[in-house]
Amino acid sequence: MRWNEMEYTGWGRVLKAKAQVARPEKPAALKDVFTETPAPAIGALRSYGDTALNDAGKVVNMTRLDRFIGFDAKSGVLEAEGGVTITDILSTFAPQGWMPAVMPGTGFATLGGCIANDVHGKNHHGAGTFGEHVLSIDLLMADGETRTLTPKDNKNLFRATVGGVGQTGVIVSAKIQMKPCSSRLIQVDERRANGLAEFMEMLKASTATYCVGWIDATAKGDSLGRGILEEAELTSSQMDPKLRKSRRVPMDAPGFALSPPVVRQFNKLYFNRIPAEGRGVLRSLEDFFFPLDKIHDWNRLYGKRGFHQFQCVLPDATAEETLLDMLRRISRAGLASPLAVLKRTGTGQAGHLTFPMQGFTLALDFANAPGAAELVQELNRLTASAGGRVYFAKDSLATATEVAGMYPDLADWQTVVNEADPARAFETDLTRRLNLRGAK
Ligand SMILES: Cc1cc2nc3c(=O)[nH]c(=O)nc-3n(C[C@H](O)[C@H](O)[C@H](O)COP(=O)(O)OP(=O)(O)OC[C@H]3O[C@@H](n4cnc5c(N)ncnc54)[C@H](O)[C@@H]3O)c2cc1C
Repeated sequence: MRWNEMEYTGWGRVLKAKAQVARPEKPAALKDVFTETPAPAIGALRSYGDTALNDAGKVVNMTRLDRFIGFDAKSGVLEAEGGVTITDILSTFAPQGWMPAVMPGTGFATLGGCIANDVHGKNHHGAGTFGEHVLSIDLLMADGETRTLTPKDNKNLFRATVGGVGQTGVIVSAKIQMKPCSSRLIQVDERRANGLAEFMEMLKASTATYCVGWIDATAKGDSLGRGILEEAELTSSQMDPKLRKSRRVPMDAPGFALSPPVVRQFNKLYFNRIPAEGRGVLRSLEDFFFPLDKIHDWNRLYGKRGFHQFQCVLPDATAEETLLDMLRRISRAGLASPLAVLKRTGTGQAGHLTFPMQGFTLALDFANAPGAAELVQELNRLTASAGGRVYFAKDSLATATEVAGMYPDLADWQTVVNEADPARAFETDLTRRLNLRGAK
């Protein structure tokens, strides 16, 4: 197998790596790679920090292993290779009445990447994480053998693989249980929330299947924490979805594109576009689930220095007080972009290192400007002292000590992973930075 040197970044473009990359097209070629040297997998590189980076090492790019292997139209069980994207699955099977039970906010993510981060969607409070809908995984391990894992057989290895950031091996393929959908359109109801307490109450009280909040991270005073709640239900409408045309960001944007006055003005207009009494709209599934995917390379809007994403989840007991504190600091710093999300999370988790817990999750982007890294570090500290967690798929600045206290099953995960990969062939920049695998 040919290895090509490649410089690459996570989606936030702050952290970088130079690695030797193999890009096998068939499972047999992937096996050949492993007889030479086992190496961590990369998917579509939609994780923001260093989860998929392996500087000065090797990685296996899985994006050409993107075939559907089998589909049962009666039960909705799909078997597919690890490099298939969520959009591939949705656009192929929604017309046949099935969709992934859980989808992250981008359809570019691969099946392998969604399992490795045990991603959550706008229905986590009801449907749990992606891994809870995975029936089996074919995992190519460091010893060159492929093993089939299910929640019952090889249970510990299954739990360590789901959300295990690629440390048990390469997910060659997986079987997932999809959920029925009878239309390509979704009914979305949007309402304003005038401040944080009201917003959290609305999120708690919502009985909608899908529920997500946009939050104005520039608002201050009585408006602190205001935003827009979106509640959505699948429909049976047979109208054709109008898919918006994709656009591309042709170059890195200049620094002023997301300057504080521009963001404040944008947020004000965005908030006020929803009438005080709320409104309902029909949207295509793609527009609702992957609102940013229509703008290819939107990460270039932050300029060539890139951006940090901060995402925490906070338990119910500390969420309101901590969110108020965080939002005050964020609006005071004037560094937030318009992309800020507040969601309710439930108890669902399929792996030792699954991110969500019962509570609230806040996610925000910060252009990599002076002060941004310090602000994110401060938010990480607040998360740790509130008993919350930061998300490996997004993080680039947390410390090993902070993270060790956030993930109660970390030691169990380390035992399984270090036994499965004793030579630590699958370590990445993330696992080294956060000492996730523990002492050797
Ligand atoms: C716009 C946007 C919105 C997002 N919204 C959400 C959201 O709502 N919820 C959420 O949970 N996440 C969200 N994310 C994060 C994203 O879903 C995850 O980072 C996901 O893991 C990305 O998948 P990927 O294929 O790009 O994987 P990569 O980023 O390439 O890799 C991520 C991790 O998966 C491992 N990996 C990848 N493929 C394999 C494989 N075949 N076998 C073993 N390990 C593998 C890598 O080693 C790495 O550790 C969002 C990201 C973006 C850019």
